Amino acid sequence: MNNLKQRIKEEALRLGFSFCGVARNDSLDELRPFYSGFIQRNGHAGLKYLETNFEKRLHPELIMEDAKSVIALLLNYFPPEIIPEEDNFIISKYAYGRDYHVIMRNRLNELIQFMKLSFGDHLAKGFADSGQVLEKAWAQKCGVGWQGKNTLIINPTAGSFYFIGIILTELELEPDLAETDHCGNCTNCVNACPTGALDTPYQLNIPLCISYLTIESRAEIPADLKGKLNDRIYGCDICQDVCPYNRFARPHQIPEFSPSEPLKNLRKKEWIDLTEPDFNRIFADSPVKRVGYRRFKRWIP
Ligand code: SF4
Ligand code: SF4
Repeated sequence: MNNLKQRIKEEALRLGFSFCGVARNDSLDELRPFYSGFIQRNGHAGLKYLETNFEKRLHPELIMEDAKSVIALLLNYFPPEIIPEEDNFIISKYAYGRDYHVIMRNRLNELIQFMKLSFGDHLAKGFADSGQVLEKAWAQKCGVGWQGKNTLIINPTAGSFYFIGIILTELELEPDLAETDHCGNCTNCVNACPTGALDTPYQLNIPLCISYLTIESRAEIPADLKGKLNDRIYGCDICQDVCPYNRFARPHQIPEFSPSEPLKNLRKKEWIDLTEPDFNRIFADSPVKRVGYRRFKRWIP
């Protein structure tokens, strides 16, 4: 079992993942009170995908009956170069390059292919932010990081600028030790959040979060929150930027996550003049495209 795990981890690193951990597939029923409370008090801002897959998210066997193990993988997106924020509108670092769902899915599929070729045909399924599995809970169980007060997965040696991929597999693999909480007395993220979305540490109040307001929400931003965006037009990294563990962030080496030249060169004036064809060209393969030109332009005067 250990040998299988070792070979999977080596292949994961070869494919460009930074961390790979394993847990035994088990129900996550211990999280039921937390998640049902979260949904009851509308902490999820009515996001339907968080409601519809509720049982599946707690019971991976409803997705794959004979799943024995869960593999969590972290893919680095910390940019080698931050787009200047002065005289600019700000988009989240995760959206600098191509849509990570595609890149993550391709790499998960390559790893699954390797597992099947190496260990015989079996069922295995990859998840890239699909809403069907509790990625963060599994990442912590698999030992690749802990869920911090900013609710993100933080690796103690490399920070939090990582996409999480999950594989459910019928292979029986030696589990790793779960990671423990290293936030300690730090409250940097809670104090720095401009909207109070982390006022209850470890619980993101989604309706207040700038990422939700600028990406998911179709409604107008409430007047009392509008002034707190500080030129953020797609996502928000504040609670990651202030996290002391991100001192250890290392630049990614994935060309697809780098911003295009036109995106790097946009400043406020160009954003304001951005036409729909420009938007479609610059964000053709980007997660930003999902919000569409009209919604995207809402926050640009
Ligand atoms: S992403 Fe921004 S608004 Fe959302 S919790 Fe973090 S700091 Fe607050
Ligand atoms: S900023 Fe501090 S409290 Fe917040 S997640 Fe990082 S270590 Fe934890």
